[in-house]
Amino acid sequence: MTTTEVENFPGFPEGITGPDLMDGVIYATGATARRLNLPREEEFWSRGISACAICDGASPLFKGQVLAVVGGGDTATEEALYLTKYARHVHLLVRKDQLRASRAMQDRVFNNPNVTVHFNTETVDVVSNTKGQMSGILVKKADTAENSVLEAKGLFYGIGHSPNSQLLEGQVDLDTSGYVLVEEGTAKTSVEGVFAAGDVQVTVSCSTLQAITAAGSGCIAALSVERYLASNNLLVEFHQVQLPSLYLPWQVSYMSGINLVS
Ligand code: NDP
Repeated sequence: MTTTEVENFPGFPEGITGPDLMDGVIYATGATARRLNLPREEEFWSRGISACAICDGASPLFKGQVLAVVGGGDTATEEALYLTKYARHVHLLVRKDQLRASRAMQDRVFNNPNVTVHFNTETVDVVSNTKGQMSGILVKKADTAENSVLEAKGLFYGIGHSPNSQLLEGQVDLDTSGYVLVEEGTAKTSVEGVFAAGDVQVTVSCSTLQAITAAGSGCIAALSVERYLASNNLLVEFHQVQLPSLYLPWQVSYMSGINLVS
């Protein structure tokens, strides 16, 4: 907002002023996987502890091993089932006496002989062997307060996400968890000219959490911005750039930006 000419922003070959560039803002900062902040979490992060089974599950570190997933929602159950492709066995550590996951996911977990669900189980820390490798998980039973070590070479977090919306606090309406509230069917936030898309937006993150819905909400946001600019008599031009590809014999063409002329 405080700069004059911006000459190096994609989609604006003639340059654009800072205030013009800021006429319509789409906020798409996503959500970050929550962590348990276990005492030895940093020591074993990416060496046994992970927040993404799909990203890390196939690692040689975990193949054929006993693994654990913490959480009781759709993410945790999905991760546990996914990990059975690679692991010898998967333990699902659930802090309450019930799963929060959808009925279909619950059925799939309960019917899979390679998954054991541990209810009322709090994850306290990870433990290592004499070689310094992760070898198990220290768990505490909520009902009896009894501690024990569960053998596992990997621990995956499936305990939900936190929206990256700190920048908007006190400025744009957020729900109690910090997700950006938008007008139904649009990407409009409570502040005119500010739109939200992707996992930071309440309707995407709290109902589906799928890549395709996040991308779809990006499309809705782009169209919302276009309508907003047009209704404010700002001319909207779509720009395409031709980039020679290093790897393909043809040219790659895609939309690079929206040009605004007041
Ligand atoms: P959720 O908020 O639904 O579930 C989080 C789970 O983690 C809960 O069981 C919660 O326990 C547990 N948890 C939270 N904090 C801790 C902690 N400190 N220690 C132990 N357990 C903890 O998050 P999800 O990521 O599972 O799902 C988010 C949304 O995305 C949901 O609407 C879900 O339906 C959707 N989703 C859909 C998928 C699909 O359609 N394929 C796949 C994945 C997600 P408690 O129940 O005790 O609060």
